[in-house]
Amino acid sequence: MSRVLICGASGRMGMEVVKAVANDDELTLVGGVDCSHKGEDIGELVGIGTLGIPMHDNLAEALKEQKPDIVVEFTNPAVVYSNVKTCLEHGVHCVVGTTGLTEEQRNDLDAIGRKHGANVLIAPNFSLGAVMMMKVAAELAPYFPDVEIIELHHNKKYDAPSGTAILTAKLIHEAQEAAKVVPSEDLTRESLPGARGAKFDDITIHSVRLPGYVAHQEVLFGGHSETLTIRHDSLHRESFMPGVVLACKKISEHEGLTYGLEHYL
Ligand code: NAD
Repeated sequence: MSRVLICGASGRMGMEVVKAVANDDELTLVGGVDCSHKGEDIGELVGIGTLGIPMHDNLAEALKEQKPDIVVEFTNPAVVYSNVKTCLEHGVHCVVGTTGLTEEQRNDLDAIGRKHGANVLIAPNFSLGAVMMMKVAAELAPYFPDVEIIELHHNKKYDAPSGTAILTAKLIHEAQEAAKVVPSEDLTRESLPGARGAKFDDITIHSVRLPGYVAHQEVLFGGHSETLTIRHDSLHRESFMPGVVLACKKISEHEGLTYGLEHYL
């Protein structure tokens, strides 16, 4: 039974993770950390009844008191690096859903984790459907070199483009390079800056932010008189929980830092 602590436990994702871990027979929920709600019962906070487990407001203290094997981290891009570093320095594995970590930060965390015998999974998207969407997009890329991504999220999302869109672009670009295919030249000149979106690894990404959405993405491939579109929709934050729970169960088997849930499937 792995002991799991949730960092960002009173956030939108954190509260779902608390419920998912509390409901799983192979994981033991040992605590939550967030900026507020110190001392409150974590079960009452997420609406599943009293669990007798207190909320903390200091990660290092919570690690010392609750002695988790794993921390699940869903906070924000401004604090995720320092939180994950703290966990790894305490020898605690980290399952990270917060987006926005740079490649340089990921390399640093890999080194810190290896030094302290702690593993990290950073997954821009924990939903199985989204992982499959990225896999299919990479498989299609050699046949349809002209491709753009539209990602759509709720308007409280902090960063743009989404981590999922960035990883999708990276995978498509790698597949295009491996197949030695080259996209058509983009001949459009913007009369309004930003009208054509932004590019990551030469793939155009458009970010939509509107109330009502959760997390959605379309990958649009253009061909000769035909188009092919793949779309994934997360309709509720519960869609990410099977992936988070799976990650907690497998993290001890994957040394160092892993980027993307697909490596655990
Ligand atoms: P949120 O704003 O609802 O929750 C974040 C929580 O973190 C808040 O309760 C906040 O108080 C807390 N927090 C801030 N600083 C903290 C600190 N230093 N220590 C502890 N807690 C702290 O955000 P959210 O919608 O739950 O999303 C969280 C992150 O997860 C975002 O980066 C989002 O993009 C990402 N996300 C990832 C996936 C995925 O599958 N990987 C899915 C959805 C969202």
